[in-house]
Amino acid sequence: KRALIWFRRDLRASDQAALHHALKSAEQVFCVFVFDSDILSELPRSDRRVVFIWSALGALDADLGALKPGAGLIVRHGSAKDVLPQLAAELQVQAVFCNHDDEPAALARDALVGERLASFGCQFKSFKDHVVFERSEVLTAVGKPYSVFTPYKNAWLRKLEPFYLRAYPVLPYADALASSPLRRGVPSLAEIGFEATDLSPHLGVGSAGAQELLDDFLQRIDRYDDSRNFPAVKGPSYLSVHLRFGTVSIRQLASEAWQRMQAGQHGAEVWLSELIWRDFYHQIMHHHPHAMRSAFRPAYDAIRWETGADADRLFEAWCTGATGYPLVDAAVLQLNQTGYMHNRLRMVSACFLIKDLGLDWRRGEAYFAERLLDFDLAANNGGWQWASSSGCDAQPYFRIFNPVTQSEKFDAEGKFIKRYLPQLAKLPPKLIHAPWTAKPLAVQACGVNLGQDYPLPIVNHDEARQATLARYAVVKSAQ
Ligand code: FAD
Repeated sequence: KRALIWFRRDLRASDQAALHHALKSAEQVFCVFVFDSDILSELPRSDRRVVFIWSALGALDADLGALKPGAGLIVRHGSAKDVLPQLAAELQVQAVFCNHDDEPAALARDALVGERLASFGCQFKSFKDHVVFERSEVLTAVGKPYSVFTPYKNAWLRKLEPFYLRAYPVLPYADALASSPLRRGVPSLAEIGFEATDLSPHLGVGSAGAQELLDDFLQRIDRYDDSRNFPAVKGPSYLSVHLRFGTVSIRQLASEAWQRMQAGQHGAEVWLSELIWRDFYHQIMHHHPHAMRSAFRPAYDAIRWETGADADRLFEAWCTGATGYPLVDAAVLQLNQTGYMHNRLRMVSACFLIKDLGLDWRRGEAYFAERLLDFDLAANNGGWQWASSSGCDAQPYFRIFNPVTQSEKFDAEGKFIKRYLPQLAKLPPKLIHAPWTAKPLAVQACGVNLGQDYPLPIVNHDEARQATLARYAVVKSAQ
């Protein structure tokens, strides 16, 4: 029997569900990754994610070769819905194995691939791998999906047992990995139409890079709860991009956290909770695909957002880090320069776009989707709907973050701000969070000419707050 494994958001050669099942059930197993032109054609030529995937493929190819000499990846470039069935036919495999991808576009693509494979008698087998619990695995007592996080998390934790976190062994079955004359190595970035773009060296490459980040994080996981909210501090794990592309196994991460939590470590318990948020948003996407396009709570679709040239100008200022609110600007500059944004800052900058600038949350969501290395439809949509108060378990609409007090609280010394706004480097902590409120001479004495070196605020927070409460009145009356 011959089988083909189609790698997608699971770019690793250990604890990988589809790889495990394929190797167990076939004598000859081939491995493929397709640079899907249906996705790539939408992306800028310098997209960092393509570079991340490309480096991860080099590592995966080597890891497969280490499991069985001569084995490795066949890498193709083209529309996956055509390329995959063609390759399966060429290799004469009886089955294609992959892991679930529950994004609506991926489901549609997989349905088509499945049909095409079936037309010549090839099976299409897909497995849970990306999350601990998926789809309808965690439901309420009356069999309904949860839409509030805390009861979901409690049910998730009640259901958890070691079985669900067990690694899928690969090594004992590695003999089935087959070499193929169709394997020609990983094409260069130029061959697939992309430019080499610098990635942060801290990100690490492939599974080995993810493991280094994890080892580093486990040294400080006990302090996670105290440090995770301060963007100038190395608090979180920075593993999101590895989770997104599967260069690390969610079972491994959840198991590390769960064991420490059972040993009484609070930091590990809080971190596990974040991993549960990830499962939570994935099951929301499964049960409520409409929410990927419009408000989870339909009443919120009646809100009238700012439009026209003025709104475009405000949006442009937000995207380029020129709102005049230092923490908000530094946050977006972090995203633009590195492809990462700290979680606290994602909340602050999202709330600012929606509730200070009065812009449709979908504009910000789309901007994050373009720029985030870890962009994940379910989590990004969940985060933006949380900020716009239109989602499940969202921030109430009348709770509006104050960008200045957030800055004072979470970047008190202004260290993070200064990293991305070096023109403000000489401002002392008491001036850096809202420089326009200080005496112009005091700011000038620190080498900053407001309006020239750094913009004046493009909106007044207190006025914007009132406008937002009025804008959301339409929702209040619908409740
Ligand atoms: P850690 O604090 O180390 O957390 C560990 C992991 O838990 C993360 O890697 C992530 O997989 C998961 N996680 C943490 N917080 C959340 C959350 N609120 N929702 C879902 N999963 C979570 N996360 C993404 O992975 N992709 C996105 O596109 C994304 N967009 C977001 C948009 C907004 C507006 C907001 C408010 C949050 C968004 N998040 C997103 C969630 C969160 O900000 C990132 O997962 C986190 O900052 C990644 O950094 P880390 O790996 O160091 O996190």
